[in-house]
Amino acid sequence: MARVTLEKLLERSVKNMGKVDSVVKESTLEMIKRAYDKGINVQISAGMRTYAEQDALYAKGRTAPGNIVTKARAGHSNHNFGLAVDYFLVSHDGNVGHWDITRDMNANDVADWLEVANIAKSLGFEWGGDWKSFVDYPHLQMVGGLSTAQLRAGKRPNLVSKVKNPIKVVTKPTHKKVSGPVADYQKWLNKNYSVDLDVDNIYGPLTNKAAIKAYQVEMNKQYGAHLKVDGIYGHDSRNTTLNVKRGARGNITRIIQGLLICKGYDVKGFDGIFGAGLEAAVKRFQKANGLYVDGIVGVNTFVALLK
Ligand SMILES: [Zn+2]
Repeated sequence: MARVTLEKLLERSVKNMGKVDSVVKESTLEMIKRAYDKGINVQISAGMRTYAEQDALYAKGRTAPGNIVTKARAGHSNHNFGLAVDYFLVSHDGNVGHWDITRDMNANDVADWLEVANIAKSLGFEWGGDWKSFVDYPHLQMVGGLSTAQLRAGKRPNLVSKVKNPIKVVTKPTHKKVSGPVADYQKWLNKNYSVDLDVDNIYGPLTNKAAIKAYQVEMNKQYGAHLKVDGIYGHDSRNTTLNVKRGARGNITRIIQGLLICKGYDVKGFDGIFGAGLEAAVKRFQKANGLYVDGIVGVNTFVALLK
């Protein structure tokens, strides 16, 4: 199996980080390259975040399902100013993300996660793993000594890059033929919900968001749920979630099949039919996630599937 190329990791990261500060961007790309040279595949999952996106994230574990993932309200995260990025590790072939901070893919007895953090720090980043009050392992930021209050008021740091030869990444829409089970799901989402996903056979935040949008569209169409189609599984979406079980047919079943496929489960066909194969996969998923094992996709299972 060939190793994922550096270009691929850079390209995906540029896409995920959005419009971050130019010094943050070039330092991040340099970090990915230096890690790659050490045998570590690292990618960026998030960068610039709007106030609305921050609010939705803040709701998680508070007014919305899931675990608390941030202590920051809108305007209180350095992501809101394009000064922060979050990273995660990627498998050898580039197809699976890893959030295991003890992983040691390059087998040098130092956790890869820490190696990446050290590279980042040498480039001028502050690492969330060093924080005492709210440890945030994926988080890297450059704020030049400014507080979020100052940033909210419009001040911006004067960042100086430590990168000698900035890497240029050309992001091009990929029309290359990528195949695989996740790619089939992405194609289906694109075709039916115009979500404009890159068909890369990788389950990431954009595919997750697209799946939620598809679900919201179906709930509105089939049940008149009047949900806002925003790709955020919030309070309203949760409240309208129905139990989906064996015998069901249609696009909601297909959305569920796709989510399980994204999580590596064999659902015995991506066909919108809730049969024995899907039921068994749901049960395996429930068991693995500490949920009540009944093979029925209700709110709790849905929340876990959308994580
Ligand atoms: Zn972060």
